[in-house]
Amino acid sequence: MAEATAKVIVNGLKKNFGKNEVLKGIDLTVKQGEVVCVIGPSGSGKSTLLRCLNRLEEINAGEVLVDGTNIADKSIDINKARQNIGMVFQHFNLFPHLSVLENITLAPTELGKADKGTSRETALALLDQVGLADKADAFPASLSGGQKQRVAIARALAMNPDIMLFDEPTSALDPEMVGDVLNVMKDLAKDGMTMVVVTHEMGFAREVADRVIFMDGGYIVEEGNPEEIFSNPQHNRTKEFLDKVL
Ligand code: ADP
Ligand code: MG
Repeated sequence: MAEATAKVIVNGLKKNFGKNEVLKGIDLTVKQGEVVCVIGPSGSGKSTLLRCLNRLEEINAGEVLVDGTNIADKSIDINKARQNIGMVFQHFNLFPHLSVLENITLAPTELGKADKGTSRETALALLDQVGLADKADAFPASLSGGQKQRVAIARALAMNPDIMLFDEPTSALDPEMVGDVLNVMKDLAKDGMTMVVVTHEMGFAREVADRVIFMDGGYIVEEGNPEEIFSNPQHNRTKEFLDKVL
């Protein structure tokens, strides 16, 4: 059954801020292990779509199912649902007063996911995975942007999520830091993580995405595999956007 492998199902999703209709009817299915890259101009609703997937925004119409759970349903335990959905933002949002290790172990220990010793071991393994094994005791202020973002990824992974959402994770980084972060994301994709990535890194989208979604004006205008979208876009708006960014 197709449903069984769908991690995310979005049907007729609408979202407005006051009179501003930002998402005008989004349909989207993300399968287990799939990497979906979302591209499109600023203001097209990419971040809002991502934030609706873990109810950082309330939706106005439609439905959002993550692992079969209706995220909009007021009776669900949203914090429990969110534990399955890792999110990485443009601006890392690390806790400045906590060490790298403490940043990573905080949620798992506070939420009773693991005891102190286990979450410490997990955190050290994750730091190794993102190439920062030597930074466990460092504080965020002493790290570069790229290092902070890799800590933020490790922190999200510490909850052992099923799905990872990335909102322009490299947009705030100096160019020389971008590659390290993208490499961590590539490895995650290779390991089979289900990922939705809003990005301006067209090279990453072309290489790593199973599917690329082009959004404009609150709609998904076009979607396809990277070859289809980048080499043979069907819609004028997609062509115009790609002409500007490629
Ligand atoms: P993108 O990520 O594609 O740049 P966003 O989803 O951030 O687009 O924004 C889409 C539209 O929604 C913009 O017009 C933006 O001003 C508006 N918007 C986003 N978040 C809010 C908010 N919290 N309150 C009011 N308007 C918002
Ligand atoms: Mg955005």
